[in-house]
Amino acid sequence: MTCNPNWPEIKEHLFLNQQPNDRPDLIVRVFDLKKKIIKYLTGTQGLFGKCIAYVHSVEYQKRGLPHLHCLLWIDENSKPRPQEYDRFVQAEIPNPNEDFQGHQLVLQHIIHGPYCTNKSPCWKDGRCSKRYPKHYSVHTRCREDSYPVYRRRSPEMGGHHGHKEGRLRQNITNEWVVSHNLKLLKIFNCHLNVDICSSVHSIKYVIKYTMKGSDQLFLE
Ligand SMILES: [Zn+2]
Repeated sequence: MTCNPNWPEIKEHLFLNQQPNDRPDLIVRVFDLKKKIIKYLTGTQGLFGKCIAYVHSVEYQKRGLPHLHCLLWIDENSKPRPQEYDRFVQAEIPNPNEDFQGHQLVLQHIIHGPYCTNKSPCWKDGRCSKRYPKHYSVHTRCREDSYPVYRRRSPEMGGHHGHKEGRLRQNITNEWVVSHNLKLLKIFNCHLNVDICSSVHSIKYVIKYTMKGSDQLFLE
């Protein structure tokens, strides 16, 4: 989860002529409260099933906004089965006629890019290191020792598309949608990526973020 500097809890407490960037004190306090809410919803309330362990870490990039990485372990008897994955993790732009709020939020916060090029920070060795645009898929499929391939329908398969505010010329399809949980997206109104990690490979990848420490300086 990445902090949204336009959260009303931040904006309504700015002094005259201040921008959110001028108030790191306010940003970290609001972010910390949101972090507690996400822990309550996913840990105590068990949004993804009965949570038996929780690890998190908050990262601050230089002059950047805070973001949270968290990893939840779900009890064997209550964790979602592969056929239920679509209920917990989505990777598509919702139909604007059925869920206008979801449609807007996904386009606003959950799109990789939109579009990336060799000038984007994600670009490494001649391609997008996050592997966007992703392949379309009619169904969610589980893969051996990797993240699942989520349902990501093309416009021909009935997938929806849209435009990001201020970028009307770029038609965005499901190839660019980051996996997320619509319920959490609506509650938190920010970039919030959700993935199912059911393999050693994916757990190793996520734990690297949650265990990454800040630089340390030892003085005699
Ligand atoms: Zn990229």
